[in-house]
Amino acid sequence: MRMENLTWNEFDEIKERANIVILPIGSVEAHGKHLPLGTDVFAPMEIAKRVEAKLKERDIEILVAPPIWYGHSFVLNIFPGTVNVKADTLRRYVRDVMEEFAEEGFKRIILLNGHGGNYYPLVEACEEVAEKYEVEIWLINWWIDFKEDILSICSSQGHAGEDETSVMLAIKPELVKMEKAVGEKRSSRVRIIRKDIGLELFPDGANDNPKGATKEKGEAILSIISEKIVRLILEAK
Ligand SMILES: [Zn+2]
Repeated sequence: MRMENLTWNEFDEIKERANIVILPIGSVEAHGKHLPLGTDVFAPMEIAKRVEAKLKERDIEILVAPPIWYGHSFVLNIFPGTVNVKADTLRRYVRDVMEEFAEEGFKRIILLNGHGGNYYPLVEACEEVAEKYEVEIWLINWWIDFKEDILSICSSQGHAGEDETSVMLAIKPELVKMEKAVGEKRSSRVRIIRKDIGLELFPDGANDNPKGATKEKGEAILSIISEKIVRLILEAK
């Protein structure tokens, strides 16, 4: 059930039956010259949609909350179109949103993250909420938690890379410009924090070779990840 489509009294009823809420979160950020700025939100939204549908087939209802679009994106802020929210602002904002769901009585919040830069502020936000409420939070970073599965499908993974591009080809092919898909893996020996480091580490906003991406690979990734999350939910119930 998508929360934004419900009236307050429908929401109130669903709360009685559903004790899990999925909150997708991502970023508005440069993703090479070939992927849309909303990539990091489109992916977790799609995973959430599939998880919800698969559970519905088993007569289990969960709530899918509207996504949090803007994330913490220091490194890619050098590129036009990236909207960077400071880590502390994001932590407090996501904490407040999750606390609202805890207040409503949800017992588990699945924070489905699509963006690496959000990771540390989200861990802190989750800890703050878990400290205060009897709630369990699952922080899922799909490209990390299911890395092994992804690398059994793709030859590499990375920002705007083969995995993310494949996923976008499966979700919104009309927004992917494969003719502009270029990139390579780059890294530094130590973590360098400098305003324009993104120009070196993420040329054109990418950090992996996206050329091998296909819709089929994206479909396989989405299907295995959503199935595995469903299994985790069923096991934990
Ligand atoms: Zn991304």
